[in-house]
Amino acid sequence: MQASFRGTYNDGRTAVAHGCAVTLLADALSLQLDSGAALWWPYGTLTLVSDDRAAGRVVVAPDAASDERLRVVGDGALEALTSAVPRLSGHRTTRGFGRSAMVAAAIVAVLAAFWFGYPVIKDGLVAVFPPSWSDRIGREMTADQALFGEPCTGAAGLAALDDLTRRLSANAGLPEPVRVHVRSSDQVNAFAATGGHVVLLNGLIRQAKTSDEVAGVLAHEIGHVKHRHPLKRLIDVAGIQVFVSAISGDVGAVGTTLLMLNYGRRHEAQADRTALDLMGGAGIDVGGLADFFDRMEENTRNRGTFIPFLETHPPLAERSAAIRAHSGNGSVAPALTNNEWQALREVCAGARKPSLQVLPRPLTSS
Ligand SMILES: [Zn+2]
Repeated sequence: MQASFRGTYNDGRTAVAHGCAVTLLADALSLQLDSGAALWWPYGTLTLVSDDRAAGRVVVAPDAASDERLRVVGDGALEALTSAVPRLSGHRTTRGFGRSAMVAAAIVAVLAAFWFGYPVIKDGLVAVFPPSWSDRIGREMTADQALFGEPCTGAAGLAALDDLTRRLSANAGLPEPVRVHVRSSDQVNAFAATGGHVVLLNGLIRQAKTSDEVAGVLAHEIGHVKHRHPLKRLIDVAGIQVFVSAISGDVGAVGTTLLMLNYGRRHEAQADRTALDLMGGAGIDVGGLADFFDRMEENTRNRGTFIPFLETHPPLAERSAAIRAHSGNGSVAPALTNNEWQALREVCAGARKPSLQVLPRPLTSS
């Protein structure tokens, strides 16, 4: 099977067609534009726009709401694309379907009826979503070593991080326990997946000046876990596909969808507020999170660095000001001792870096 081919990309706002190299990854399409930009479209939301097989031409979009388009021409490219994403060819994958296929289909149909007929039921779906599915999807979302690098295993660093996580989440009233993973990527990023899985990338730990800053980011991600934002957004973006995938056992299709979730103003503000509560409860000064936001904003402005975690609304300056208003909450000690902090900074020693340098969200959207 052809794993890479040429295509034509259009950003949906101008008429310019960009040549690009398209690579089929395990769960996403990578588009390397000839201009140098990189895009990354998870299979979970990839949408067929038009399909003229007689002419050997297919047009896809990153998701149903997007105006961006990728056009591929040629039988080899078509065949590769549809075998990577069977949904596009009209043939559903049968992997994971067994004797219970009819039952599963019936459940999906009922859920779909609720879904499309009663959007307000969505919160109910989040509430009854089986924890084992949530966990499975979360594991899948965070598994990609080519993207995030190897798991970091420094024992002392992980112990310090686990202890910090316990202190922050002690009285958080979380719907599911938080499990924090560190991966070796140099990207300054962190995210919460479903099932309470939180990933910190080593680039974020290395970029932080104090353990309070890491504690702030961690508290923010725990805030997303508390409010079940990953599952809510996943259901928003991938819709019924989440249920189909979970039932069929083929969660890869929706797994990395999470990486393109950005939460929007309401969810970010909610996670920030929870972070303040959790840090206050753990006796950690919230100023660390504000410091981190400020420095990242400066980096982004000066170098034009694209940092998905920070591509947020409201803007970072506004968020850090709101946080700073709560600073000076009487903390006496940093989040970690010196020894713990040094151990955390070395937690990824020896872990292999990711092989891919692709961006989870299109540059064109910023
Ligand atoms: Zn967030």
